[in-house]
Amino acid sequence: MTRDLAEFARETGIRYFMISFTDLAGGQRAKLVPAQAIADMQADGAGFAGFATWLDLTPAHPDMLAVPDADAAVVLPWKPDVAWVPANPVMEGLPVDQAPRNVLRRQIDLAAAAGLRVKTGVEAEFFLLEPDGRAISDPQDVAEKPCYDQQAVMRRYDVVAEICDYMLELGWNPYQNDHEDANGQFEMNWDYADALVTADRHSFFKFMVRSVAEKHGLRATFMPKPVAGLTGNGCHAHVSVWDMDGTTNAFADDAAELGLSARGRHFLGGIMTHAAAMCAITNPTVNSYKRLNAPRTLSGATWAPNTVTWTGNNRTHMVRVPGPGRFELRLPDGAANPYLLQAAIIAAGLDGLDRQADPGPRRDIDMYAEGHLASDAEKLPLNLLDALRAFDADSAFRGAMGDGFADAFLKIKHAEWLSYTAHFSEWERVNTLDV
Ligand code: ADP
Ligand code: MG
Ligand code: MG
Ligand code: MG
Ligand code: MG
Repeated sequence: MTRDLAEFARETGIRYFMISFTDLAGGQRAKLVPAQAIADMQADGAGFAGFATWLDLTPAHPDMLAVPDADAAVVLPWKPDVAWVPANPVMEGLPVDQAPRNVLRRQIDLAAAAGLRVKTGVEAEFFLLEPDGRAISDPQDVAEKPCYDQQAVMRRYDVVAEICDYMLELGWNPYQNDHEDANGQFEMNWDYADALVTADRHSFFKFMVRSVAEKHGLRATFMPKPVAGLTGNGCHAHVSVWDMDGTTNAFADDAAELGLSARGRHFLGGIMTHAAAMCAITNPTVNSYKRLNAPRTLSGATWAPNTVTWTGNNRTHMVRVPGPGRFELRLPDGAANPYLLQAAIIAAGLDGLDRQADPGPRRDIDMYAEGHLASDAEKLPLNLLDALRAFDADSAFRGAMGDGFADAFLKIKHAEWLSYTAHFSEWERVNTLDV
């Protein structure tokens, strides 16, 4: 039975609910609804003028109603009289096709129709910056190889431990926190779960990290490449597919190569086939392409792929199979929309299963040092426009994501690209003033 939010408020002392949805730009939008008014909102949804957000709606469209998924409500651990509730946008009784949480729920239904349940974990790396976003917040954090820096992570103990305590309280089973490979960069890991649960947690994590950082006078960012020359913010996704009761991993086969079953290989084949098109979703901003295809960083490696290649336990490729029964997609970055990221993985993977796609040769080479040995491998898009065109051209993947979604997404993203190209940059002045 669905949780009754009014009753939940009485039991927990919640005074306000944030009825929240995520738009196509990845922004989280919410209305604060007092507990006294939540019963009606739970039934009917909270009203929004959809045009005012990035959903490709016009001012003439009827109101969009965000219907809370009451069972997914989370009490804010840092403000326990408020609960965040992810919501599903509806218009005139129908789901808004292009709303990211609806896009993902549709993919989950398609997987379920094939008897499959996708479970994923994400590694949402972030930087802690000064409030103006221009410099990392710890002036002592300057090591050339800062990964796992014990002294530096302890200088941010108050922020990191507070967030980890909250994840413990929320029952996410966090299991490690570290200083990452860039100065000012951190990663916090919690257990994998069903794709929708992970997408909600991923959204909430971004909100929580930003909120706690602000509380400490800092600015957290998940931007793919917030500091030139330093390793960027990845958002690796680990993926396995299970039977519907969640007990048998359909990707696990001890007798198979790397412990990845035939179904696992086909799902991976779908990811490999549609990788370039997926970039529009996994790497959705202009800045994303400063992380992909990056030159070597200060630490010596970019940790981000340039080509569509896969391997075993080796972090220099787009896909790593770190152990039996799952793979890690290292393509996504911190700008990926938490819902669209999961939806894209499922859509590409289901298409691969359908076609019994072959992931191609496994390449056990160091791609940074020996990339020339894989010169036949497909290159990833070089910029956002390249990725948008690849997405538009891949009719199987575009169709699998839903044409309603694809049209809206492409329209908004092409406008973003045009806005970027209209921006006059210092690079142009320096390099072309005298030509
Ligand atoms: P690494 O840095 O080595 O890539 P992390 O430990 O940072 O790995 O993150 C691994 C993520 O993968 C976690 O979210 C973890 O729960 C998740 N994971 C582990 N096993 C599976 C699995 N079978 N299916 C999906 N996700 C998994
Ligand atoms: Mg108004
Ligand atoms: Mg990690
Ligand atoms: Mg990492
Ligand atoms: Mg990883």
